[in-house]
Amino acid sequence: MPELPEMENYRKLLTQQLVGRTITAAAIHRVKSINTSVEQFQEEAVGSRLTQINRRAKYLLFSLASGKVLLLHLMLGGWMYCGTDRDKPDRTTQVELSFGEKTLYFIGLRLGYLHLLPPQEAMAALAGLGPEPLAENFTEAMFIDRFKGKGGRLKTALIDQKQIAGIGNCYSDEICFAAGIRPTQTCRELAEGDWSELFRSTRRVLTEATARGGYMESPLYAGDTLTGGFNEMCKVYDRSGEPCYRCGGTIVRTDISGRKTFYCERCQR
Ligand SMILES: [Zn+2]
Repeated sequence: MPELPEMENYRKLLTQQLVGRTITAAAIHRVKSINTSVEQFQEEAVGSRLTQINRRAKYLLFSLASGKVLLLHLMLGGWMYCGTDRDKPDRTTQVELSFGEKTLYFIGLRLGYLHLLPPQEAMAALAGLGPEPLAENFTEAMFIDRFKGKGGRLKTALIDQKQIAGIGNCYSDEICFAAGIRPTQTCRELAEGDWSELFRSTRRVLTEATARGGYMESPLYAGDTLTGGFNEMCKVYDRSGEPCYRCGGTIVRTDISGRKTFYCERCQR
């Protein structure tokens, strides 16, 4: 599932590609991916200019000049491509938004969705989310305060969107590796210094992954060399049985509440 770095990468690149353009057509191939009738969606979206794209947690918000917002969550397996019928991937699309000669294709939207909402309803949908970990006003003290002494495992805490927004299965493991702490530890066992290290690791890992284009495997548009640049840079995620880059130990896999979890047995304590 795309996490904060992947969605932030999409936001930046789609802003360059599409903001300021007007939606000239909307094709809906899966009605369940939207929240209105096809006719209403087309009536309200087509002819409206895209004024800005914002990100909150793992969501993107496409603001339209009409005043409505398109709220996107890709969930598991969703991704996007921006291009033409000639260069688009040979995949089924659920929604297509055309902006003149360019079209934004939404692919793999099975659990994911694109909802057309008044801004206040979009905000209400995001109301329960915790703070953005890369926000300048999100401090180490706030981070520690949210987690220290709580019950449950470290990984479970890091991916809890109510506590902190945008971290999922991959980056929670990468953050724990960067901090040298096992994701299987319980929050109560961790000392203040551990939380400080986890805060710094959270910022560092998410910042670097975003700068490297996240881990999505498919480019966003023809000639896109940025998207997916972090895929080869994961230190533990999906590397079970492989040697640790830091100490040469073996990366192991376990499950925490049904989620794949990876860490180094030797250098994470
Ligand atoms: Zn190691």
